[in-house]
This record gives sequence, C-alpha cells and structure tokens, in this order.
Amino acid sequence: MNYIELDKKHTWHPYNSLPTKTKILPVKKTFGQTIVLEDDTELIDAMSSWWSAIHGYNNPKLVEALQKQANIMPHVMFGGLTHEPAALLCEKLAKLTGLPSVFLADSGSVSIEVALKTAILYQKAKGKNVDKFISLENAYHGDTLGCMGVCDPNNSMHSLYGNYLPNNIFTSIENIEKTIEKHHHEVAGIVLEPIVQGAGGMKIHKPDYLVKLRELCTKYDIIFIADEIATGFGHTGKMWACEHADVVPDIITIGKCLTGGMMTLAAMCTTKHISDTISNSEIGVLMHGPTFMGNPLACSVANASIDLLLESNWQEKVSNINKIFTQKLNTLEEVEIVKDIRTIGAIGVVELHDPNFAQFIQDECQKEGVWIRPFGKLIYSIVAYTITNEELNKICNAMINAIKKANIQFKNMEQK
Ligand SMILES: *Cc1c(COP(=O)(O)O)cnc(C)c1O
Repeated sequence: MNYIELDKKHTWHPYNSLPTKTKILPVKKTFGQTIVLEDDTELIDAMSSWWSAIHGYNNPKLVEALQKQANIMPHVMFGGLTHEPAALLCEKLAKLTGLPSVFLADSGSVSIEVALKTAILYQKAKGKNVDKFISLENAYHGDTLGCMGVCDPNNSMHSLYGNYLPNNIFTSIENIEKTIEKHHHEVAGIVLEPIVQGAGGMKIHKPDYLVKLRELCTKYDIIFIADEIATGFGHTGKMWACEHADVVPDIITIGKCLTGGMMTLAAMCTTKHISDTISNSEIGVLMHGPTFMGNPLACSVANASIDLLLESNWQEKVSNINKIFTQKLNTLEEVEIVKDIRTIGAIGVVELHDPNFAQFIQDECQKEGVWIRPFGKLIYSIVAYTITNEELNKICNAMINAIKKANIQFKNMEQK
C-alpha cells in the first residue's frame, strides 16, 4: 500500500474529517519557495508553510545548525538542566522584544496557554482573584481549550464544547476602552493579535488602539498580552507589530517564524516585574514544563534563523514584497466578487463576498503552479522574504486569474 492510501485510512489532517473530505496533496520534497509533489509537479508556495518559512525551504544555514546540534545533543530534559542553545536563544529574544523573562514552549498554542497562566498568577500574587480575559472579535490564538477560550466564538465552534470553555469577554476594537472600563475589576488580562488579526479574518487595523490600550492596562494593572505568533519577525514590515504603535506589551508570544518554519518551537516573553512578582510571592513558581521544553535542536535552528534574519536586509525585502502585492492585487478592484483588497508587509489579502469560491480558486492556482490555501472568503498569501520577484509575480498572477475566472462563473450564474 502506498503512503497516500495509508494516510487516507489513518491520518487526521488539520481541520478535517477522517477520511478527509478535501483534497490532500502528497509532497515529495521542498526547496527554496517550491513544494515538489510526488508526481514531480512543482508549486510555488504562497503560504510559506503556514506563514513560518521566512527564509524559504531547506535553507542551508538552518539545515547546518540542525545537523551540527544533532551530533552534539539532540535533546535533554530542561527540568534542572540547561544548555547553550536555549540560553543564547532566550537572550536573543530578550534583546529583540525588550522583555527579559522568557519561557520556551513547544507550540504557539502552548505559549498562549503559558501567557494566560502567567497573567492569572501575576494577579494572584498581587492579591487579586481574577481569571477572566478580554479578547477581540475575529481573534485567533490557537486550538487548545484555553486558547479557544480567547478565540472568536464564531470562528472556533465554541458551542460544541458545552461548559468546558472559560467564559471570557469579547469586544470589538472600537469598544475596547469601554469594555476595559466596565470589566477591569474582573479581568487578569487582555489578549490580542496586534495590527493584523490572522487566522480569524486577515483583518488589518490602524495602530492607535494599541496606544490607548497600553495606557488603560497600566492604569488598571491588567496584563497586556500581544500574540505576535503570526505578526512577529517582520511580517508586518516591523520586527514586532506592536512597534507600529511604539508600545511594549507586558507579554509577547512568539511562534511560527521562530525557527524559520523548520522545527516546532514558541516562546512567551514577559517583564522582569511580572516574573519577579510571581517568583517572590507565595506562589513562587510558574507551574508549567513541557517534556520537550527548550529542545536543543529547535533552539539551535531558532538561533540560526534569527541571525540570518538580522544579517539580511529584510526590511527592504518585505517592502518590495508589499509593493508588488499592492500593485498587482489592486488590479482586482473592479471585479464584482471582490469585497476588499488589503496588504501590509509580506501579507496580501483579497476578501471576496462569497466563501464558495475557495476550492475553485485553490484548484485554479494549482493548475498555474501555485500552492495557496484560502479560508472561505479570504484569498491570501504570506510569502518567504527570500522569494524572487518572478516567483511573487507568478503567485499574484495566479490569484488574479483564478479570481477573475471565479467572477465569470459568478456572472454566468447571475444571468441564469
Ligand atoms: C498560529 C497561531 C497560533 C497557534 O500557534 P500553533 O503553533 O499553531 O499552536 C496562535 N496565535 C496566532 C496569532 C497564530 O497565528
């Protein structure tokens, strides 16, 4: 039996049934910005491997870091022990974020869980028994139950889980201030994706709300958690999206691009004030410790990935990517099925009125040699910073042609 049949029989895929009801493509190998399928079809990756492979696939510097570390020490438990790759990484993240107390987690969702726990513990250490969070409409913070509790209820099927999910407070960006004024006495923190809300709707926001939010969180001593798992490492044109508003949150969560898309690793960074408050209180410790915490392979690749980014002229590359996305995608303005076009940094989004064209558009792009995975009405691309103009033009042209073809279908349907 070949592996594709085995996969159908045994393997759950993300957000899918078993066997899957959607098409799953078998991948043989990757290189640069290219995914090679088992039948040798080459697809340019418009998704940069779920927004994580900023240096492209199989980057030699990252592969070298992985191989080197594999020969020295692939893994050792982190409880009671430490090692150079982890310590170096925490120092790098402390410098990059301005938040010196770093917890290494094994996925973005886990880093959010740790952030929520840290906020509650901090409040408890200060004598406040508060356990609610404020979160935003269209928010996405991961798939574990604690994370789901701060995801937009409509996007993450909250209703299926009965009373298992915490009862948090959801609001819009317009009403953040009012919500904080009303609920500050019962919340431990507020969690949000700064500037760009990713998986919950690919929405782009002006920075002003973050300034006001910083003021209010300081005033009421509630923890400002910036989930930069998607926005971090330059995706919005700044290293962190919070820099668009010149604010420093109390906690930043980091994931996705941390290892340049090669290994699973995430981090929660916070202030010395927060780590001291918990550590010097009766609580004393942050009770969390994944088995594979601080995995040396992942930390080594993360160190190499950060060095590679900082040595590169990534700002210039991201601004060039943005120029091409903006010029190209804006040509869709007059197309009837298109509702909105928006770009920031290395992110290009076309929102349609209708979610029913997603599979058609994905298939059409694939025919043109481009891997894209729309969600519903959102046809979008987030690319590696190593992408060439030629590759990026190919992605944009495939998106444009597919959307225009969908539009012809739409007009034909209307006539009938
Ligand atoms: C992807 C993502 C997460 C979850 O990270 P995982 O590594 O998939 O657990 C959380 N928050 C945001 C904003 C994300 O984009």
